[in-house]
Amino acid sequence: MKLNVLHLYPKEMNLYGDHGNVLAFKRRCEWRGIDVNVIEHEPGDKIPNNIDFIFGGGGQDSGQGKIEEDLQLIAPQLKKFIENDVPCLVICGLYQLFGKYFQTSEGQKIIGTSIINVTTKAGPERLIGNIVINSYGFGEIVGYENHSGLTSLGSGTKPFGEVITGAGNNGEDKTEGCRYKNCICTYLHGPLLPKNPKLTDFFISKAIEHKTGEAVELKELDDSIEQKAHAVAVTRPR
Ligand code: GLN
Repeated sequence: MKLNVLHLYPKEMNLYGDHGNVLAFKRRCEWRGIDVNVIEHEPGDKIPNNIDFIFGGGGQDSGQGKIEEDLQLIAPQLKKFIENDVPCLVICGLYQLFGKYFQTSEGQKIIGTSIINVTTKAGPERLIGNIVINSYGFGEIVGYENHSGLTSLGSGTKPFGEVITGAGNNGEDKTEGCRYKNCICTYLHGPLLPKNPKLTDFFISKAIEHKTGEAVELKELDDSIEQKAHAVAVTRPR
């Protein structure tokens, strides 16, 4: 089996090692004998229709500005993927642009895809540091956040989890990220997946289910190193 992974804007949107999420997805597939083909999408590229997993990382305000126009062009196709239960992970800057817009601290409004009903506006200070959340469905998740954006969840949206230590969506309402169908949006960099293998396997199993039309039980892997990395990261001070 070969899974097609769509990696959105790896040049403009790849902060704090977010590319490592694609590597973690690929490696955990290969350890199970599943091939992975990564399609890197840059502005102007066409997107094939047989996509099994979508990933997009974080970016500076300038990087988000650079992709704004192309993102509007591909938004209808991305929406269709998400509505058809294609699994998707977007981090921070692309999380913000999966919502309605991100208004920067200079007042520039960068228009998003509106795939999810959230809005983001830059706050007076950046929210920076290690973060631990209690996610809905995947237990404790650990990562790192660095964003000026304060995200408000609109009606019909569910958070990805609840903040244990850190700021999360806005440092106020204790929510972190957002989930819509198999699309998980989060502020957690790290990269996120290597230290949270359960989440990686969720995306892999949903990608296979999307491709074959059948639910799948993934072969167990030895996650002792991943769990150790997770445990150490959780003890790191904010
Ligand atoms: N530029 C956005 C912000 O500052 C996103 C940052 C990021 O992706 N880490 O909120």
